[in-house]
Amino acid sequence: MEKYVIIVAAGSGIRMQGGIPKQFIPISEKPVLIHTMAAFRKAFEDIHIIAVLPDKYIKLWKEMCVEFKCNINHAIVAGGKTRFHSVQNGLKHVQSDGIIGVHDGVRPFVSQQTIITAYNTAVEKGTAIPAIELNDSIRLLSNGLTLPVDRDQYRLIQTPQCFKADILKDAYKTTYKRGFTDDASVVEAAGYKIELTPGNFENIKITRTVDLAYAEVLTKKRFII
Ligand code: C5P
Repeated sequence: MEKYVIIVAAGSGIRMQGGIPKQFIPISEKPVLIHTMAAFRKAFEDIHIIAVLPDKYIKLWKEMCVEFKCNINHAIVAGGKTRFHSVQNGLKHVQSDGIIGVHDGVRPFVSQQTIITAYNTAVEKGTAIPAIELNDSIRLLSNGLTLPVDRDQYRLIQTPQCFKADILKDAYKTTYKRGFTDDASVVEAAGYKIELTPGNFENIKITRTVDLAYAEVLTKKRFII
């Protein structure tokens, strides 16, 4: 069965370090996005990698690939206004049947086990969404008050979110809605059942400056390949 990963990296995000979006910032001497692509190439040597990038950074990315001697074969696609639109653009480049994973470009610490379990589960169940338990307590904001909730009933959702190609393509025929922050929400809105799989705690979404400091530590502890 063919395997694809659409790596969405077209966000401009919170600007850090000289105004470069975080997916292009080097950690351990390589841009975040190269680490992310390497994790998928290591998991499946035949996977088709589709990188969705901000239009205005495509030239810079190609230069980075030369500078950092990135030999990971991948297609490059221009992103859209939101993550949802970026995934839609990436999907146009998936020509055959198979399993499609959608992964945030800013999650370079996804483990091999998280990737392989998600793809294998999607083959069997049609959908597979990595999730982890919460460490912190959480509260619900409600009419100016805050209420305690049982954290055991909640999960933090990660990527790669994996699907049979026909399911993901069908779900993404819809129009954008505000709640579509990930692929599970889009696929569920189209009427499909969502299957959770184990994620990994290091699989953080590099979002704030402090995450880069954590990322440097993780690379030194060999959480990255
Ligand atoms: O900011 P957000 O949590 O939506 O970002 C998740 C991922 O989606 C990031 O890797 C980001 O680059 C990507 N994204 C995208 N196109 C957008 C917005 C975000 O590919 N228009």
